[in-house]
Amino acid sequence: MSDAELKTAARDLASLIRQSSHAVAFTGAGLSTESGIPDFRSPGGLWTQNKPIPFQAFMASREARTEAWRRKFVMDESFRSAAPGRGHRVLSAMARAGRLAGIITQNIDNLHQDSGVAADRLVELHGNGSYATCLACARRYELVWVRERFDVQGGTAPDCEACGGPVKSATISFGQAMPEKEMQRATRWTLESDLFICIGSSLVVYPAAGLPIAAKQNGARLVIVNREETPLDDIADLVVPAEIGPLLMAVATELGLGLDC
Ligand SMILES: [Zn+2]
Repeated sequence: MSDAELKTAARDLASLIRQSSHAVAFTGAGLSTESGIPDFRSPGGLWTQNKPIPFQAFMASREARTEAWRRKFVMDESFRSAAPGRGHRVLSAMARAGRLAGIITQNIDNLHQDSGVAADRLVELHGNGSYATCLACARRYELVWVRERFDVQGGTAPDCEACGGPVKSATISFGQAMPEKEMQRATRWTLESDLFICIGSSLVVYPAAGLPIAAKQNGARLVIVNREETPLDDIADLVVPAEIGPLLMAVATELGLGLDC
């Protein structure tokens, strides 16, 4: 995409945002690649050697839980320095300026929170990898605690101190049920939206990818910002195959938003 094309696309998107009274952003892995977190569906590298363990396997044995934590420690080590990118900062500024009613994210990297988005403006569909919870009693554990217990026990996954249940990263693993409250909030925001802006999502992972379809069917305008094509490009009102950071910075300029974060 040339600079001129990017500017035109930014103007079009800013115009749609100005016309809307309830815009919702829906974000995926592509938003965080600028922060150095690779999309795990891309081939090669760390992800291939350290794939998340499917939920059923995690529940079935301590060996799998131990391996799941070992892999998570490896991945966290690599991305510990990740900070919000330009895309995160613009979305945060938009939310604070009342230009966005909310952000629904598929990401688990906590970067929306790190960029200053308030909890009541954010839905995390796939959980959050920056802490852990007991799957039996929902007690929260910090990763530092998990790491300590793991090491003290000679490299074994720890159990909940309160109930003995399995302690897992607070993400939604493959095969794990979607979080009910988050899905309800996301669905409500989607149906209330008059503009639904997908940013950096390949729109292939369901049920998350059902939200833009529901928004469009409910009369919202649908925008898709993604470097690669998506299966929903055909039903979108605006498709922008641009780099997210530069595009959203241009949108912020069009909207006259200051980025003070
Ligand atoms: Zn517990």
